[in-house]
Amino acid sequence: MVREFSRNVDSFKAQSNSGENIRFEKVRKNVWRLYSKSHKEIKISYQLYAYELTVRSCFVNNEQAYMNGAALFMYAEEFKNMPSDLKFVPHRDWKEISTGLPTKNSDKWHRTAENYDQIADAPVVLGNQEILTFDYKGIPHYIAMVGKAEYDGEKIKRDFYKIVDQCTKIFGENPVKDYTFIIHNLPVGSGGLEHMNSTSMMNSRKNYSDDKGYTNLLSLAAHEYFHLWIVKRVRPLELGPFDYENEVYTRQLWFYEGFTSFYDDYIVYRAGFFTEEEYLDVIKTNLKTVLNTPGDKIQSLSDASFDAWIKYYRQNENSKNSTVSYYTKGGLVAAAMNFDMINATKGEKSLDDLMKYLYVDHYKKLGRGLTDMELQNVFETVSGKDYDSFFENIFMERSLFLMRNILIWQVSPLNVLMV
Ligand SMILES: [Zn+2]
Repeated sequence: MVREFSRNVDSFKAQSNSGENIRFEKVRKNVWRLYSKSHKEIKISYQLYAYELTVRSCFVNNEQAYMNGAALFMYAEEFKNMPSDLKFVPHRDWKEISTGLPTKNSDKWHRTAENYDQIADAPVVLGNQEILTFDYKGIPHYIAMVGKAEYDGEKIKRDFYKIVDQCTKIFGENPVKDYTFIIHNLPVGSGGLEHMNSTSMMNSRKNYSDDKGYTNLLSLAAHEYFHLWIVKRVRPLELGPFDYENEVYTRQLWFYEGFTSFYDDYIVYRAGFFTEEEYLDVIKTNLKTVLNTPGDKIQSLSDASFDAWIKYYRQNENSKNSTVSYYTKGGLVAAAMNFDMINATKGEKSLDDLMKYLYVDHYKKLGRGLTDMELQNVFETVSGKDYDSFFENIFMERSLFLMRNILIWQVSPLNVLMV
């Protein structure tokens, strides 16, 4: 969804370094044009109204200043690929800063970014949050706990370590030098957003005292961490370089979000937080959800991805009738695909091999995203099986029930193998 963050900007001002005002005019909802003549240095200032606490927005109160670059920082088109320095000036009572941006001169309030994309990609929170730290094979991990909650810090560190370990084992290597989880503990909250070496998560504070709630938190952490490889690095070709102004269309979200949704619970299960029965219940609930969504018979997975801009992110009273979640349905397809690959290769290969192949043999070698056809080819290369009709189903078929070669056929192996 195009979020139109510039609606929160006011009191825009431009000055030369000698303090002279520079004339400007606003030419679009989010574009200011300066008549800067021969000025070598220009100082831009503006105020931002920041009172929306979501994974993508900015929020300031007496306890924290939470920032997401895309919602806060402007850029000049010509300088978008140049490095930046960011100096944060906290309230005098605030002692902590949490962000994935690297420090400069060992000053924690002074951060740098190689380009605008890195600024937009790294949420920042200032305040007095508790920071839980653990080391994963030489990689420091920080968990910034923002907002009061009754949690056991030692347990969270231990449990997050297991999640990080299970994710890393799938790909064989970890791509980050450090990693920051920013967790907002709220009366009610859910959802997260993935970044290159951090994530922002919204969590209900009651989750710490409830087993089901706690596994939900671990699933969310696993989901965002898994995205380090799948979508932040391995990604659809179309999603780069970033276009901050226009809708960018891709038909592959069922894979990046759906398969990540499959893996989030699967990782929690593998890390020992779900019993087999509890894990099967999760799949069962997802299956029920999709089969009870009338829109499953109307919208294909590929269309759900393509129209996310105007449908998934702009739901109304008709959404259940006309759309299906590429997260939930994509996750079910992933579960079925895992068995199909195991079956096709007589247990030699599984989805894990496909994930590793995408990271090692595609992303690391080519350093770019995948076309739809390349994604299909990877499935075929890893499994040695023809997936033409599978991909035809993804792109054309609407009902999960009609995806015969996937789910109906797979229901019995699923039960046999898992139960
Ligand atoms: Zn996701």
